[in-house]
Amino acid sequence: MPQPKKKTSHQKQAQRRANWKLELAPKTTCANCNSPKLPHIACPGCGYYRGRPARRRDWLLSE
Ligand SMILES: [Zn+2]
Repeated sequence: MPQPKKKTSHQKQAQRRANWKLELAPKTTCANCNSPKLPHIACPGCGYYRGRPARRRDWLLSE
């Protein structure tokens, strides 16, 4: 197996990792309450997915 000739310095390691970024989450808006939500996931605000309630019924009744 080929081996690195030199140990990577802490500075080089930090310079490489300075480019690590969190990916921006793709955002959509809820068709029911118009709040921002993640795609393919029920709305965290109203619990609706594709125009109808997608969470358990006892969650809706407890509101
Ligand atoms: Zn909603």
